[in-house]
Amino acid sequence: MNNKSILNELSPYKPGKQVKEIKEMYGLNQIVKLASNENPYGFSENVKDYVLNSMHEFNIYPDGYTSELRTAVAAKLKINEKQLVFGNGSDEIVQIICRAYIYPGVNTVMATPTFPQYKQNALIEGAQIKEIPTIDGYHDLEGMLTAIDENTNVVWLCSPNNPTGSIIEKETLHSFLDRCPKNVLVVLDEAYYEYMESDLDAKMIEQLSAYPNLVILRTFSKAYGLAGLRVGYAVASEQLITKLDVARGPFNTSTLAQNAALIALEDDQFIQSSRAKNNDVKQAFQQFLTSIGWHYYDSQTNFLLVSTPISGEAVFQYLIENGFIVRPGELLGCPNTIRITLGHESDMKQIQDLLYQLDQEISKENE
Ligand SMILES: *Cc1c(COP(=O)(O)O)cnc(C)c1O
Repeated sequence: MNNKSILNELSPYKPGKQVKEIKEMYGLNQIVKLASNENPYGFSENVKDYVLNSMHEFNIYPDGYTSELRTAVAAKLKINEKQLVFGNGSDEIVQIICRAYIYPGVNTVMATPTFPQYKQNALIEGAQIKEIPTIDGYHDLEGMLTAIDENTNVVWLCSPNNPTGSIIEKETLHSFLDRCPKNVLVVLDEAYYEYMESDLDAKMIEQLSAYPNLVILRTFSKAYGLAGLRVGYAVASEQLITKLDVARGPFNTSTLAQNAALIALEDDQFIQSSRAKNNDVKQAFQQFLTSIGWHYYDSQTNFLLVSTPISGEAVFQYLIENGFIVRPGELLGCPNTIRITLGHESDMKQIQDLLYQLDQEISKENE
């Protein structure tokens, strides 16, 4: 049997270790996972009520058109319902985009470091990858523009960017889109949109009619707290969405997920309170990092990428033995950093104590 030869070179996604596994390994009673940018405050209470108190008809296929959620999202974003396609997380939308627009002979442009699924899926579809290093965590849009050639089919923008946390500024984004060839698909992944300060929002959805080559991705996995249910979506011109819809599986989001997302969407209060708590925690943690002289990248998200005086792997190992899981930068394409999801205030206090002690030890050794 011949498989796509690229599959012999790639490996499956390496998930963070399961909490249970780590507890057993290090004999810990409690583990705090700050590794996947999940919402530490859970999800809307209304979703809990729905899941517990509804008659679920799991024997029936889901609505393949995601009608109710579609209507609600379209109304919220003030767009036509036909400008939406839903996915099993925005991960699946990335896959659908690659399936639809990437084939051998084309190339695709993205930042590095950035969300790894763009590269993974584009490679599987046979693209050549052009990675443009970020500058202080920010996309180098001029560099990306220069990298575009006649074989470029898709450009990936991630704002705020995972793993750096930095946004693409409004003016920069507009200037890029105005100069990017119109036959190049531009994907703007806004997975952390709800965490951004509102005056930094480039409001690209309102300007979609000016950019028929633009696709915007959003998800219910981060601020909405529904990562386990898998719902994300793309917003674009109707024409573009029609193409993506062909490449989509007919029942790719479950009934439970669709209904939960619909209920979550209506609970603005939950998003507001998550944002507010996240901001307070972020400020306090940034102050702490400054106090020990550790650099961090600008972030408009619920995580911080922190430069570490020893390898990120070593800091990761130290933290995991003390009950905290973070993501070592070595796995994300940025050595000597760790990416920490901002958790509950009390957990952050503990992690600060641990990092303070570690910093003291490193300083002593260097004396
Ligand atoms: C988490 C994340 C996603 C994936 O989200 P799902 O909707 O859970 O698949 C996509 N893009 C970025 C940048 C992310 O950080």
